[in-house]
Amino acid sequence: MHKVAIVGRPNVGKSSLFNRLIGRREAVVADFPGVTRDVKEGVMLYENHRIVLMDTGGLWSGDEWEAPIREKAEMAMEDALAVIFVCDPREGLSAADYEVADWLRRLNLPVVLVANKIDSLKHDVYLAELWGLGFGEPLPVSAEHARGLDDLMDRVVSHLPEDDEDVSEIAPIRISLIGRPNVGKSSLLNAITGSERVIVADQPGTTRDSVDVDFDYAGQRFVLVDTAGIRKRPDSAIEEYAMMRSEAAIKRSDIIWLVVNAGELGDHELKLANLAYDSGKPVIVVVNKWDLVPDEEIKRTTRDLDIKLNHIHFAPRAYTSAINDYGIHDMLAEAMKLYAKWQSRIATADLNRMLEIWQVKQRVPNFNGKPLKMYFMTQVETAPPNFVIFCNRADFVTRAYENFLLNRIREDLDLPGIPVKLTWREKG
Ligand code: GDP
Ligand code: GDP
Repeated sequence: MHKVAIVGRPNVGKSSLFNRLIGRREAVVADFPGVTRDVKEGVMLYENHRIVLMDTGGLWSGDEWEAPIREKAEMAMEDALAVIFVCDPREGLSAADYEVADWLRRLNLPVVLVANKIDSLKHDVYLAELWGLGFGEPLPVSAEHARGLDDLMDRVVSHLPEDDEDVSEIAPIRISLIGRPNVGKSSLLNAITGSERVIVADQPGTTRDSVDVDFDYAGQRFVLVDTAGIRKRPDSAIEEYAMMRSEAAIKRSDIIWLVVNAGELGDHELKLANLAYDSGKPVIVVVNKWDLVPDEEIKRTTRDLDIKLNHIHFAPRAYTSAINDYGIHDMLAEAMKLYAKWQSRIATADLNRMLEIWQVKQRVPNFNGKPLKMYFMTQVETAPPNFVIFCNRADFVTRAYENFLLNRIREDLDLPGIPVKLTWREKG
């Protein structure tokens, strides 16, 4: 992985560019002493490079490029291999731009000079002034309109050493897209693969029966399983066929996108939700055709979803409109988040500390005056996280108490949206 820093005075569009390149929401805060919260990091894939992009924008306070800011920036950029120097030529150059330029020259790193906010060709007239900064030809881009980003990244990687890591070896997140016919699955598939920060590796062929689509998003590889099943629509027995196909797709995936249309939740949705739940894999409820829900209906509609999807109430939702490209990044970002959580392992000490707290919060069940006793808790599996509690009598555990514990596990152990498992073992 190679580090690349985005630098420039306030308001030139550094964070817009950062967000554009890594796909919003993926930003994590870098962990440098004294720099935390001021520098954001995110990972992106470009060709065979995995790049850690760093937005140093948070370091600036006012307009001055002062020594303490410079020092923090230098610390954060210690192992950066290249710099993207962003200017706003439509505003014109200021003293701060020249100060940053001088500072960058002293750092002796390769610099790619970027003229941002060149939203259209007519803005090219502003470029000339930037030659004066001494970094050669400025590259016109528009973070807002996603213009010139590939040229920018081509230039950036030309300064990076060949990556020794083979990007194709990074374990992909396998996802299935399931739902009743006509909810918009193939439209979502098109929106995802056509989305600007999603890089599709293989277009599905038309001959094979089950076709997986590989793509990259925000530094992560994805495989969308069985896209043929998404596209194909046999005339007869449509729903049964979709159900069978969904079952097979769920088996082969890590994460499930369950697509529904608000206001049209029926038996089919419930069956699919159960299939997904039983698989132990994280489910994201994708509420598509959100554009058809009028503003005044939003509250009622979400409440209706809460009620009808109560048995998977913990599943996160993404509200989307496939035809407007709305919410697509939420689907992907949510999938990345859940995938990481699904694989997490909680320390035994933390579990047992929480187990004591939970017993104080809610009375344990009694049976004929004998209480359930819980001695010890440990995690025995990941993906899905499976917890075992050793107790005196497993048959003392009520459904309500188990649900209480499952909710506590998800909330207190930071596993939102995860279908956790709980197993009871008796110990004399
Ligand atoms: P930073 O302080 O350098 O991180 O700048 P921001 O990313 O916060 O952007 C500053 C302002 O410029 C915001 O209002 C953005 O919407 C705007 N902006 C950023 N990129 C572009 C662009 O490509 N074109 C236009 N017209 N405005 C942009
Ligand atoms: P599939 O059978 O689940 O693959 O559904 P399709 O993707 O074929 O979509 C069924 C119909 O719904 C088509 O006419 C789409 O144009 C329409 N559609 C899909 N997504 C949306 C959306 O987000 N909003 C609206 N208004 N229509 C949509």
